[in-house]
Amino acid sequence: MSQNLIVVGGGAGGPSAAAEAKRADPKLVVTIIEEGEHVSYAA
Ligand SMILES: Cc1cc2nc3c(=O)[nH]c(=O)nc-3n(C[C@H](O)[C@H](O)[C@H](O)COP(=O)(O)OP(=O)(O)OC[C@H]3O[C@@H](n4cnc5c(N)ncnc54)[C@H](O)[C@@H]3O)c2cc1C
Repeated sequence: MSQNLIVVGGGAGGPSAAAEAKRADPKLVVTIIEEGEHVSYAA
């Protein structure tokens, strides 16, 4: 059974935390919940 991680907030910290969690465990199902229209990103 896959594990789930819910990240609340798509500003600076949320996507960084989500990406790091996926690096640590690629099978982790990560969902980011952002109340605004956009999430931040850095190429
Ligand atoms: C005017 C200003 C200028 C700045 N300039 C710089 C700069 O030049 N360089 C720099 O390094 N830093 C700068 N900062 C600081 C930087 O913006 C913050 O340190 C950084 O954004 C904090 O990241 P965070 O992920 O903790 O919070 P945030 O970036 O605030 O992200 C939090 C996110 O969570 C979402 N959210 C909140 N509640 C909920 C909810 N209940 N459900 C779903 N989503 C939710 C919000 O919509 C938001 O998108 C500046 C800050 C301000 C205010």
